[in-house]
Amino acid sequence: MNNEFSWSSSRARSFSTCKRKYYFQYYGHWGGWLSKSDDLTKKIYLLKKMTSIPQLIGSIIHFQIENILKELKKGSIVSKDKVLKESLNSFKRSWNESKEKKWKQSPKDFTNLFEHYYSVGQSREDLLKVKDKIETCISGFFDSDSYKFIKQVANSDILSIEQLSSFDFENTKVYVNLDFALKHDGKIYIYDWKTGQKVQEDERQLSIYAMYANQRWDKNYDLIRIFDVYIYSNLPVKVKLNIKSIHDTKKYLRKSIKEMKSSLVDNEKNIANIDNFPMIENVNICNRCQYKSLCYPENWKNLK
Ligand code: SF4
Repeated sequence: MNNEFSWSSSRARSFSTCKRKYYFQYYGHWGGWLSKSDDLTKKIYLLKKMTSIPQLIGSIIHFQIENILKELKKGSIVSKDKVLKESLNSFKRSWNESKEKKWKQSPKDFTNLFEHYYSVGQSREDLLKVKDKIETCISGFFDSDSYKFIKQVANSDILSIEQLSSFDFENTKVYVNLDFALKHDGKIYIYDWKTGQKVQEDERQLSIYAMYANQRWDKNYDLIRIFDVYIYSNLPVKVKLNIKSIHDTKKYLRKSIKEMKSSLVDNEKNIANIDNFPMIENVNICNRCQYKSLCYPENWKNLK
């Protein structure tokens, strides 16, 4: 298996946050799942697989919504109580396996929480906040206009539910993970569920999804509707598509791909050298980064 160059929104996020983190995420970890790999590669892989409480909540909610929509496709409605119960159980299961360090058996198969690994104390109040967030997100989804609309048109053509796909952009593979897409009344509706706060790049991510839909389902942009649904804050945001926004997104993609490729020592073979990926100086960000024990082996506990 080769480490081929591709582009994704999360990759771009890493690249703009910290070049060293980007290197670990997309190059340094490669092969770390193999027993013959060296200790450093295995450690990078282990840290890459780490998650955090907010990320875990996001994964659990996405998994549950995926299940709700798959059941809806089959004609059944899943109850909110069932989803709530399963979400909380799922969190408890992951929390326990992380606490018991089951990830030592396999970093890929068991949860390793940042909060446990780096001893970030979680009070009873913090855990109640987790419960509250899960409940609010689930209610936010069930009460959302988006879910109500999807239920009304559930006999439409469901095109995608939590599916990792890719499309070609000027000879680069661009990965997208559409939470939900359906065809209704000649239009394509794309939804992205968000469990966090609104950030600027969310809109761009949806424009990239629209580019995918345009290519994959051969649909004009004026017949594509895209929505960010902030289920925690119960805020749906319809993103406006126009020629300029698509033009700007293409320009952004071109620039981002060029910058990433220009950091490589071998463009064709996608080979990177750690020296081309400096650490950042903002230790505040480092303090919240899963790689801090690699970058600051002596004093990661003292980062503030
Ligand atoms: S600890 Fe800091 S320098 Fe190291 S990868 Fe993370 S953000 Fe970058």
